[in-house]
Amino acid sequence: MVHFVGAGPGATDLITMRGHKLLSEADVIIYAGSLVNKELLNYAKEGAEIHNSAHMTLEEVIEVVKNAEKENKVTVRLHTGDPSIYGAIREQMDILKAVNIPYDVVPGVSSFCGAAASLNAEYTLPNVSQSVIITRMEGRTPVPERESIRSFAAHKATMVLFLSSGLTEELSKELIAGGYDKETPVAVVYKATWPDEKILRCTVENLPQTMKENNINKTALILVGNFLGDDYGRSELYNPEFTHEFRKGIE
Ligand code: SAH
Repeated sequence: MVHFVGAGPGATDLITMRGHKLLSEADVIIYAGSLVNKELLNYAKEGAEIHNSAHMTLEEVIEVVKNAEKENKVTVRLHTGDPSIYGAIREQMDILKAVNIPYDVVPGVSSFCGAAASLNAEYTLPNVSQSVIITRMEGRTPVPERESIRSFAAHKATMVLFLSSGLTEELSKELIAGGYDKETPVAVVYKATWPDEKILRCTVENLPQTMKENNINKTALILVGNFLGDDYGRSELYNPEFTHEFRKGIE
């Protein structure tokens, strides 16, 4: 059996209780070493076999799983944040399915949630934005043309950019070309929830310069939108005049 487990964004107490339990019982652990906090491996049991997938191909990962399976061992495949976001788990699951190895997935706290917490921010403010666009700049993995930054920027919704901190010149241009005001606030969260977390605040226009000055080009999220500002409406849910299923409002 293989458990795909979300490790959370970094802080070792941000893994779920289910993930922690599986990690502490696993015979074999394959962790994404480029981003997963290695201190999480302290939860592993004595004698657990540990592999860092940063040095491995998909085929090598599967080989480790198959060998574990032959000995009836339990494997935890530890992915950063939540495995469903840029986790490359589908290709692993499809191979496991083809060779009849059972698996399941344990969610994790994605770094975009960790980053919002670090900022004390709410992505979905009334009268500002009620949508969060999670996307990335194109890298080696192509992004479909219909999902261009420029087209998303036209919505002026909250935007969360993964995997893009080395491409901010182009990102800034595309955000402006798409319709964001140059002065739209941006927050960069480097290593959200890690002990060496850093937060930078800038605008869409001076984002590239800010990244350069602070020498940040990886392990960061770029958050864009007026949710970072101070103008918003209050929620209807807690409005005294609003009646809903659980509370009668003032008439
Ligand atoms: N599944 C992960 C994302 C993996 S893609 C999740 O849910 O968070 C890797 C990218 O995620 C990095 O390039 C960076 O943009 C972002 N990332 C992962 N952990 C991060 C952290 N602690 N702080 C900021 N960005 C992070």
